[in-house]
Amino acid sequence: MIKTQKGTRDIIFPEILNWQDMEEKALKIFRSANFEEIRTPIFEATELFARGVGETTDIVNKEMYTFEKSERSITLRPENTAGVVRSFIENGMHKKPVPVKLWYHGPMFRYERPQAGRQRQFHQVGVEMFGIKEPMADVEVISLAVQFLKSLGLNDLEVEINSLGCSECRTKFKQALKAAIKPVLNKLCPDCQSRFEKNPLRILDCKVPECINELSSPEIQKVIGSDFICEECSTHFNKVKELLTALDIKYNVNKQLVRGLDYYNRTVFEIKSNNLGSQNAVCGGGRYDGLVEMLGGVPAPAVGWAMGMERLNSLLPQKEARKIDYYIVSDNQIEAVKMAQKLRENGKTAEFDYQGKKFGKQFEKAGKIANYALILGEDEIKNGEVSVKNMETGEQNKYKTEEFLRG
Ligand code: ATP
Ligand code: MG
Repeated sequence: MIKTQKGTRDIIFPEILNWQDMEEKALKIFRSANFEEIRTPIFEATELFARGVGETTDIVNKEMYTFEKSERSITLRPENTAGVVRSFIENGMHKKPVPVKLWYHGPMFRYERPQAGRQRQFHQVGVEMFGIKEPMADVEVISLAVQFLKSLGLNDLEVEINSLGCSECRTKFKQALKAAIKPVLNKLCPDCQSRFEKNPLRILDCKVPECINELSSPEIQKVIGSDFICEECSTHFNKVKELLTALDIKYNVNKQLVRGLDYYNRTVFEIKSNNLGSQNAVCGGGRYDGLVEMLGGVPAPAVGWAMGMERLNSLLPQKEARKIDYYIVSDNQIEAVKMAQKLRENGKTAEFDYQGKKFGKQFEKAGKIANYALILGEDEIKNGEVSVKNMETGEQNKYKTEEFLRG
Protein backbone atom coordinates (compact mmCIF):
# COMPACT_ATOMS: atom_id res chain seq x y z
CA MET A 1 0.00 0.00 0.00
CA ILE A 2 1.28 3.49 -0.83
CA LYS A 3 1.39 5.64 2.28
CA THR A 4 1.89 9.31 3.11
CA GLN A 5 5.50 10.46 3.17
CA LYS A 6 7.31 10.78 6.47
CA GLY A 7 6.53 14.12 8.09
CA THR A 8 3.32 14.62 6.11
CA ARG A 9 -0.24 13.72 7.01
CA ASP A 10 -3.81 13.82 5.77
CA ILE A 11 -6.17 16.22 7.46
CA ILE A 12 -9.49 14.41 7.44
CA PHE A 13 -12.89 14.57 9.13
CA PRO A 14 -13.46 15.45 11.95
CA GLU A 15 -10.09 17.22 12.38
CA ILE A 16 -10.79 19.19 9.19
CA LEU A 17 -13.62 20.97 11.07
CA ASN A 18 -11.02 22.60 13.32
CA TRP A 19 -8.98 23.69 10.29
CA GLN A 20 -12.01 25.21 8.60
CA ASP A 21 -12.75 27.05 11.82
CA MET A 22 -9.18 28.42 12.05
CA GLU A 23 -9.36 29.58 8.43
CA GLU A 24 -12.81 31.17 8.84
CA LYS A 25 -11.76 33.03 12.00
CA ALA A 26 -8.55 34.21 10.34
CA LEU A 27 -10.46 35.55 7.32
CA LYS A 28 -12.97 37.33 9.54
CA ILE A 29 -10.46 38.93 11.91
CA PHE A 30 -7.88 39.97 9.33
CA ARG A 31 -10.58 41.34 7.04
CA SER A 32 -12.01 43.36 9.92
CA ALA A 33 -8.54 44.92 10.38
CA ASN A 34 -8.38 45.66 6.62
CA PHE A 35 -5.70 43.08 5.78
CA GLU A 36 -5.98 41.59 2.27
CA GLU A 37 -5.30 37.92 1.67
CA ILE A 38 -2.37 37.02 -0.59
CA ARG A 39 -1.61 33.64 -2.19
CA THR A 40 1.91 33.23 -3.47
CA PRO A 41 3.25 30.15 -5.31
CA ILE A 42 4.27 27.06 -3.35
CA PHE A 43 7.62 27.00 -5.19
CA GLU A 44 9.96 29.88 -5.85
CA ALA A 45 13.52 30.44 -7.07
CA THR A 46 15.93 28.94 -4.52
CA GLU A 47 17.80 32.23 -4.49
CA LEU A 48 14.77 34.01 -2.98
CA PHE A 49 15.07 31.99 0.21
CA ALA A 50 18.88 31.93 0.22
CA ARG A 51 18.84 35.73 0.22
CA GLY A 52 15.53 36.39 1.95
CA VAL A 53 15.73 33.90 4.82
CA GLY A 54 19.52 33.98 5.10
CA GLU A 55 22.44 31.76 4.16
CA THR A 56 23.32 31.05 7.79
CA THR A 57 19.89 29.82 8.92
CA ASP A 58 18.94 26.21 9.57
CA ILE A 59 16.16 26.61 7.04
CA VAL A 60 18.51 27.42 4.18
CA ASN A 61 21.36 25.19 5.31
CA LYS A 62 19.50 22.02 6.12
CA GLU A 63 15.77 22.22 5.69
CA MET A 64 14.95 23.20 2.12
CA TYR A 65 13.31 20.97 -0.48
CA THR A 66 15.30 22.01 -3.52
CA PHE A 67 15.27 20.52 -7.00
CA GLU A 68 16.36 21.35 -10.53
CA LYS A 69 13.99 21.87 -13.45
CA SER A 70 15.15 23.18 -16.82
CA GLU A 71 18.46 24.13 -15.25
CA ARG A 72 16.72 26.29 -12.69
CA SER A 73 17.01 25.71 -8.98
CA ILE A 74 13.55 25.62 -7.43
CA THR A 75 12.60 25.36 -3.75
CA LEU A 76 9.31 24.52 -2.03
CA ARG A 77 8.61 27.47 0.22
CA PRO A 78 9.84 26.85 3.79
CA GLU A 79 8.06 30.04 4.97
CA ASN A 80 6.02 32.75 3.30
CA THR A 81 7.57 36.10 4.23
CA ALA A 82 10.19 35.94 1.45
CA GLY A 83 7.48 35.11 -1.11
CA VAL A 84 5.22 37.92 0.10
CA VAL A 85 8.10 40.40 -0.08
CA ARG A 86 8.94 39.20 -3.60
CA SER A 87 5.32 39.74 -4.57
CA PHE A 88 5.25 43.17 -2.88
CA ILE A 89 8.19 44.22 -5.05
CA GLU A 90 7.13 42.46 -8.26
CA ASN A 91 3.61 43.93 -8.13
CA GLY A 92 4.77 47.45 -7.29
CA MET A 93 2.90 47.50 -4.00
CA HIS A 94 5.29 50.15 -2.70
CA LYS A 95 3.32 52.61 -4.86
CA LYS A 96 0.17 51.96 -2.86
CA PRO A 97 -0.71 54.19 0.08
CA VAL A 98 0.75 52.84 3.31
CA PRO A 99 0.21 50.69 5.18
CA VAL A 100 0.05 47.69 2.87
CA LYS A 101 -1.43 44.94 5.03
CA LEU A 102 -1.43 41.32 3.87
CA TRP A 103 -2.27 37.94 5.35
CA TYR A 104 -1.83 34.38 4.12
CA HIS A 105 -2.29 30.77 5.07
CA GLY A 106 -1.07 27.58 3.48
CA PRO A 107 1.43 24.74 3.45
CA MET A 108 5.18 25.20 4.06
CA PHE A 109 7.91 22.59 3.59
CA ARG A 110 10.98 21.94 5.70
CA TYR A 111 13.18 18.87 5.71
CA GLU A 112 13.31 18.37 9.49
CA ARG A 113 13.27 15.40 11.81
CA PRO A 114 9.55 14.72 12.27
CA GLN A 115 8.30 14.64 15.87
CA ALA A 116 5.29 15.93 17.80
CA GLY A 117 4.63 19.48 16.56
CA ARG A 118 7.27 19.22 13.84
CA GLN A 119 6.43 18.06 10.33
CA ARG A 120 7.94 18.27 6.87
CA GLN A 121 4.77 19.67 5.35
CA PHE A 122 3.09 21.94 7.85
CA HIS A 123 0.81 24.96 7.64
CA GLN A 124 1.16 28.54 8.67
CA VAL A 125 -1.17 31.48 8.91
CA GLY A 126 0.56 34.84 9.00
CA VAL A 127 0.35 38.58 8.52
CA GLU A 128 2.77 41.14 7.06
CA MET A 129 2.44 44.92 7.32
CA PHE A 130 4.56 47.18 5.08
CA GLY A 131 5.36 50.87 5.18
CA ILE A 132 5.12 51.77 8.87
CA LYS A 133 8.24 52.17 10.98
CA GLU A 134 6.43 53.34 14.11
CA PRO A 135 6.03 51.01 17.12
CA MET A 136 2.23 51.05 16.74
CA ALA A 137 2.65 48.71 13.73
CA ASP A 138 4.55 46.18 15.85
CA VAL A 139 1.83 46.35 18.47
CA GLU A 140 -1.01 46.15 15.95
CA VAL A 141 0.31 42.87 14.52
CA ILE A 142 1.00 41.41 17.96
CA SER A 143 -2.48 42.34 19.12
CA LEU A 144 -4.00 40.79 15.99
CA ALA A 145 -2.20 37.54 16.82
CA VAL A 146 -3.60 37.68 20.34
CA GLN A 147 -7.10 38.50 19.06
CA PHE A 148 -6.97 35.60 16.58
CA LEU A 149 -5.88 33.20 19.36
CA LYS A 150 -8.64 34.51 21.63
CA SER A 151 -11.25 33.97 18.91
CA LEU A 152 -10.22 30.30 18.98
CA GLY A 153 -10.65 30.22 22.74
CA LEU A 154 -6.91 30.36 23.52
CA ASN A 155 -6.44 32.96 26.24
CA ASP A 156 -3.59 31.67 28.35
CA LEU A 157 -0.66 31.86 25.95
CA GLU A 158 2.51 33.77 26.82
CA VAL A 159 3.81 36.61 24.68
CA GLU A 160 7.58 36.98 24.78
CA ILE A 161 9.27 40.00 23.27
CA ASN A 162 12.78 41.28 22.75
CA SER A 163 14.59 43.91 20.72
CA LEU A 164 17.51 42.93 18.51
CA GLY A 165 18.32 46.59 17.86
CA CYS A 166 19.64 47.81 14.54
CA SER A 167 22.72 46.52 12.73
CA GLU A 168 25.01 48.91 14.64
CA CYS A 169 23.63 47.77 18.00
CA ARG A 170 24.05 44.16 16.92
CA THR A 171 27.69 44.53 15.85
CA LYS A 172 28.63 45.56 19.37
CA PHE A 173 26.49 42.84 20.92
CA LYS A 174 27.93 40.12 18.67
CA GLN A 175 31.47 41.09 19.70
CA ALA A 176 30.65 40.92 23.39
CA LEU A 177 28.76 37.65 22.95
CA LYS A 178 31.61 36.01 21.02
CA ALA A 179 34.11 37.07 23.67
CA ALA A 180 31.96 35.46 26.37
CA ILE A 181 31.31 32.27 24.39
CA LYS A 182 34.85 31.72 23.11
CA PRO A 183 36.17 29.98 26.26
CA VAL A 184 33.42 27.30 26.03
CA LEU A 185 33.16 27.11 22.26
CA ASN A 186 34.55 23.56 22.04
CA LYS A 187 31.75 22.36 24.34
CA LEU A 188 29.02 23.60 22.00
CA CYS A 189 27.40 21.48 19.27
CA PRO A 190 28.94 21.42 15.77
CA ASP A 191 26.17 23.68 14.46
CA CYS A 192 26.90 26.31 17.08
CA GLN A 193 30.63 26.07 16.36
CA SER A 194 29.96 27.03 12.78
CA ARG A 195 27.40 29.66 13.82
CA PHE A 196 30.09 31.29 15.98
CA GLU A 197 31.75 33.00 13.00
CA LYS A 198 28.82 33.18 10.58
CA ASN A 199 26.01 34.29 12.88
CA PRO A 200 26.76 34.09 16.61
CA LEU A 201 23.31 35.40 17.60
CA ARG A 202 21.81 32.13 16.39
CA ILE A 203 23.67 30.27 19.12
CA LEU A 204 21.15 31.80 21.55
CA ASP A 205 18.39 29.93 19.70
CA CYS A 206 20.04 26.48 19.85
CA LYS A 207 17.90 23.69 21.29
CA VAL A 208 20.71 21.21 22.06
CA PRO A 209 20.69 20.65 25.85
CA GLU A 210 24.50 21.00 26.23
CA CYS A 211 24.40 24.35 24.44
CA ILE A 212 21.48 25.54 26.56
CA ASN A 213 23.45 24.53 29.63
CA GLU A 214 26.65 26.32 28.58
CA LEU A 215 24.69 29.46 27.74
CA SER A 216 23.23 29.55 31.24
CA SER A 217 26.60 30.45 32.76
CA PRO A 218 26.70 33.82 34.59
CA GLU A 219 29.38 35.22 32.22
CA ILE A 220 27.28 34.61 29.12
CA GLN A 221 23.98 35.55 30.78
CA LYS A 222 25.54 38.87 31.80
CA VAL A 223 26.17 39.72 28.14
CA ILE A 224 22.70 38.54 27.10
CA GLY A 225 21.13 40.65 29.85
CA SER A 226 23.14 43.79 29.04
CA ASP A 227 21.50 46.85 27.51
CA PHE A 228 23.25 46.89 24.18
CA ILE A 229 20.66 48.61 22.00
CA CYS A 230 21.13 52.26 21.00
CA GLU A 231 18.95 55.11 22.18
CA GLU A 232 16.69 55.15 19.13
CA CYS A 233 16.11 51.39 19.25
CA SER A 234 15.55 51.61 22.95
CA THR A 235 12.92 54.35 22.53
CA HIS A 236 11.17 52.16 19.95
CA PHE A 237 11.21 49.13 22.25
CA ASN A 238 9.96 51.13 25.25
CA LYS A 239 7.06 52.44 23.18
CA VAL A 240 6.17 48.89 22.08
CA LYS A 241 6.07 47.78 25.73
CA GLU A 242 4.07 50.84 26.78
CA LEU A 243 1.47 50.23 24.05
CA LEU A 244 1.19 46.52 24.86
CA THR A 245 0.54 47.41 28.49
CA ALA A 246 -2.03 50.01 27.47
CA LEU A 247 -3.82 47.32 25.45
CA ASP A 248 -3.73 44.87 28.36
CA ILE A 249 -1.53 42.44 26.46
CA LYS A 250 0.63 40.66 29.00
CA TYR A 251 4.19 39.99 27.90
CA ASN A 252 7.56 38.91 29.21
CA VAL A 253 10.83 40.35 27.97
CA ASN A 254 13.10 37.43 27.03
CA LYS A 255 16.52 38.84 26.26
CA GLN A 256 17.63 35.54 24.81
CA LEU A 257 14.91 35.55 22.15
CA VAL A 258 16.57 35.95 18.74
CA ARG A 259 14.36 33.92 16.35
CA GLY A 260 15.65 31.57 13.69
CA LEU A 261 15.61 33.85 10.68
CA ASP A 262 18.27 36.35 9.67
CA TYR A 263 16.12 39.23 8.55
CA TYR A 264 14.77 40.58 11.83
CA ASN A 265 15.70 43.90 13.45
CA ARG A 266 14.34 45.69 16.50
CA THR A 267 11.20 43.96 17.81
CA VAL A 268 11.03 40.16 17.80
CA PHE A 269 8.36 38.12 19.55
CA GLU A 270 7.05 34.65 20.12
CA ILE A 271 3.81 33.34 21.55
CA LYS A 272 4.22 30.16 23.56
CA SER A 273 2.01 27.61 25.20
CA ASN A 274 2.82 25.55 28.25
CA ASN A 275 0.73 22.70 26.86
CA LEU A 276 2.88 21.87 23.86
CA GLY A 277 5.92 20.10 25.28
CA SER A 278 9.20 21.08 23.73
CA GLN A 279 7.80 22.43 20.43
CA ASN A 280 6.05 25.12 22.43
CA ALA A 281 6.15 28.12 20.09
CA VAL A 282 2.85 28.70 18.32
CA CYS A 283 3.71 32.05 16.74
CA GLY A 284 6.91 33.84 15.83
CA GLY A 285 7.51 37.20 14.26
CA GLY A 286 9.20 40.54 14.26
CA ARG A 287 10.27 43.62 12.38
CA TYR A 288 12.26 43.26 9.18
CA ASP A 289 12.93 46.77 7.93
CA GLY A 290 15.81 45.79 5.63
CA LEU A 291 14.32 42.83 3.76
CA VAL A 292 12.43 44.64 0.98
CA GLU A 293 15.55 46.57 -0.01
CA MET A 294 17.72 43.49 0.30
CA LEU A 295 15.50 41.67 -2.20
CA GLY A 296 15.79 44.58 -4.65
CA GLY A 297 12.79 46.73 -3.75
CA VAL A 298 12.38 50.35 -2.76
CA PRO A 299 13.17 50.35 0.98
CA ALA A 300 10.07 49.82 3.12
CA PRO A 301 9.86 49.03 6.83
CA ALA A 302 7.84 45.92 7.65
CA VAL A 303 6.66 43.77 10.52
CA GLY A 304 4.82 40.45 10.66
CA TRP A 305 4.40 37.01 12.14
CA ALA A 306 3.64 33.40 11.28
CA MET A 307 1.71 30.84 13.32
CA GLY A 308 2.01 27.08 13.07
CA MET A 309 -1.48 25.73 12.44
CA GLU A 310 -0.72 22.12 13.47
CA ARG A 311 0.53 23.36 16.85
CA LEU A 312 -2.47 25.64 17.11
CA ASN A 313 -4.83 22.78 16.30
CA SER A 314 -3.29 20.56 18.96
CA LEU A 315 -4.33 23.17 21.55
CA LEU A 316 -7.95 23.24 20.37
CA PRO A 317 -10.71 20.88 21.48
CA GLN A 318 -11.99 18.65 18.67
CA LYS A 319 -15.06 20.23 17.10
CA GLU A 320 -18.18 18.07 16.93
CA ALA A 321 -19.78 17.36 13.58
CA ARG A 322 -22.85 19.53 13.04
CA LYS A 323 -26.18 18.00 12.03
CA ILE A 324 -27.57 18.94 8.63
CA ASP A 325 -30.79 20.98 8.49
CA TYR A 326 -33.03 18.63 6.47
CA TYR A 327 -33.04 14.99 5.45
CA ILE A 328 -35.70 14.48 2.80
CA VAL A 329 -37.79 11.36 3.31
CA SER A 330 -39.59 10.33 0.11
CA ASP A 331 -40.37 7.49 -2.27
CA ASN A 332 -40.10 9.93 -5.14
CA GLN A 333 -36.40 10.53 -5.78
CA ILE A 334 -36.91 13.17 -8.46
CA GLU A 335 -39.07 15.29 -6.12
CA ALA A 336 -36.58 14.67 -3.32
CA VAL A 337 -33.56 15.83 -5.30
CA LYS A 338 -35.46 18.91 -6.55
CA MET A 339 -36.45 19.80 -2.99
CA ALA A 340 -32.85 19.32 -1.81
CA GLN A 341 -31.62 21.67 -4.52
CA LYS A 342 -34.17 24.35 -3.58
CA LEU A 343 -33.23 24.11 0.09
CA ARG A 344 -29.52 24.31 -0.76
CA GLU A 345 -30.17 27.41 -2.89
CA ASN A 346 -31.80 28.91 0.21
CA GLY A 347 -28.60 28.31 2.18
CA LYS A 348 -29.83 25.23 4.04
CA THR A 349 -27.97 21.94 4.28
CA ALA A 350 -30.04 19.10 2.82
CA GLU A 351 -29.60 15.48 1.85
CA PHE A 352 -31.82 12.70 0.51
CA ASP A 353 -31.71 8.97 -0.05
CA TYR A 354 -29.81 7.88 -3.17
CA GLN A 355 -30.62 4.18 -3.01
CA GLY A 356 -34.40 3.93 -2.92
CA LYS A 357 -34.48 2.72 0.68
CA LYS A 358 -37.74 2.11 2.58
CA PHE A 359 -39.45 5.03 4.40
CA GLY A 360 -38.51 3.59 7.80
CA LYS A 361 -34.82 3.39 6.93
CA GLN A 362 -34.89 6.94 5.60
CA PHE A 363 -36.41 8.14 8.90
CA GLU A 364 -33.70 6.33 10.81
CA LYS A 365 -31.04 8.11 8.77
CA ALA A 366 -32.78 11.46 9.32
CA GLY A 367 -32.72 10.86 13.07
CA LYS A 368 -28.98 10.31 12.97
CA ILE A 369 -27.81 13.14 10.78
CA ALA A 370 -30.49 15.85 10.54
CA ASN A 371 -32.33 18.33 12.72
CA TYR A 372 -35.51 17.88 10.61
CA ALA A 373 -37.00 15.22 8.39
CA LEU A 374 -38.76 16.78 5.41
CA ILE A 375 -41.42 14.33 4.30
CA LEU A 376 -42.57 14.25 0.68
CA GLY A 377 -45.20 11.50 0.59
CA GLU A 378 -47.70 10.96 -2.22
CA ASP A 379 -50.27 13.26 -0.56
CA GLU A 380 -47.80 16.04 0.05
CA ILE A 381 -46.57 15.96 -3.54
CA LYS A 382 -50.14 15.95 -4.90
CA ASN A 383 -51.18 18.92 -2.69
CA GLY A 384 -47.98 20.98 -3.08
CA GLU A 385 -47.16 20.54 0.60
CA VAL A 386 -44.33 19.38 2.84
CA SER A 387 -44.44 17.77 6.27
CA VAL A 388 -41.59 18.78 8.53
CA LYS A 389 -40.71 16.72 11.57
CA ASN A 390 -38.45 18.03 14.29
CA MET A 391 -36.25 15.00 15.03
CA GLU A 392 -35.44 16.21 18.53
CA THR A 393 -38.98 16.87 19.81
CA GLY A 394 -40.98 14.71 17.40
CA GLU A 395 -43.24 17.66 16.57
CA GLN A 396 -44.56 17.54 13.00
CA ASN A 397 -46.20 20.28 10.90
CA LYS A 398 -47.52 20.58 7.38
CA TYR A 399 -46.85 23.64 5.18
CA LYS A 400 -47.61 24.79 1.66
CA THR A 401 -44.31 24.15 -0.17
CA GLU A 402 -44.12 27.70 -1.57
CA GLU A 403 -44.65 29.30 1.83
CA PHE A 404 -42.20 26.92 3.47
CA LEU A 405 -39.47 27.72 0.97
CA ARG A 406 -40.09 31.45 1.34
CA GLY A 407 -39.06 30.96 4.97
P1 ATP B 1 11.07 26.16 15.82
O1 ATP B 1 12.02 26.90 16.68
O2 ATP B 1 9.98 25.47 16.56
O3 ATP B 1 11.76 25.31 14.79
P2 ATP B 1 10.98 28.26 13.91
O4 ATP B 1 11.68 29.39 14.54
O5 ATP B 1 11.68 27.42 12.90
O6 ATP B 1 10.32 27.30 15.02
P3 ATP B 1 9.27 29.95 12.35
O7 ATP B 1 10.05 29.79 11.12
O8 ATP B 1 9.29 31.23 13.07
O9 ATP B 1 9.60 28.75 13.34
O10 ATP B 1 7.73 29.56 12.06
C1 ATP B 1 6.65 30.07 12.85
C2 ATP B 1 5.83 28.96 13.44
O11 ATP B 1 5.61 27.92 12.51
C3 ATP B 1 6.49 28.25 14.62
O12 ATP B 1 6.30 28.99 15.80
C4 ATP B 1 5.75 26.93 14.65
O13 ATP B 1 4.50 27.07 15.30
C5 ATP B 1 5.51 26.67 13.19
N1 ATP B 1 6.50 25.71 12.65
C6 ATP B 1 7.76 25.95 12.24
N2 ATP B 1 8.34 24.83 11.78
C7 ATP B 1 7.41 23.83 11.88
C8 ATP B 1 7.38 22.44 11.56
N3 ATP B 1 8.43 21.84 11.00
N4 ATP B 1 6.26 21.74 11.81
C9 ATP B 1 5.18 22.34 12.38
N5 ATP B 1 5.14 23.64 12.69
C10 ATP B 1 6.23 24.39 12.46
MG1 MG C 1 12.71 25.58 12.95
